[in-house]
Amino acid sequence: MLLMRKQRVLSIADFRYVSIHCVHCNSTLALDLEGEIAGRRAYFTPTACSVCGHDFDSALTNLNMLNQVYKKLSAAKNAITFSGEAENEPAE
Ligand SMILES: [Zn+2]
Repeated sequence: MLLMRKQRVLSIADFRYVSIHCVHCNSTLALDLEGEIAGRRAYFTPTACSVCGHDFDSALTNLNMLNQVYKKLSAAKNAITFSGEAENEPAE
């Protein structure tokens, strides 16, 4: 039997927004990785939900590092891809 392998590949060039889902109020906040952080906002990731005010999981502050790395890789972003697990599908 012949198997086709289907794999999702995402270029970092296609990757711009990261979303945070608030488990308390079910809202979603989209953050722009290419956006500039102006003024007093020293960090990319807010510490609390802007809708209900609950604190986000502290692990989400690691998105600040993702934003820094994204900006540092911007000159080479067309050379970088991410991929997931390959899915096996029977050929038709
Ligand atoms: Zn919320």
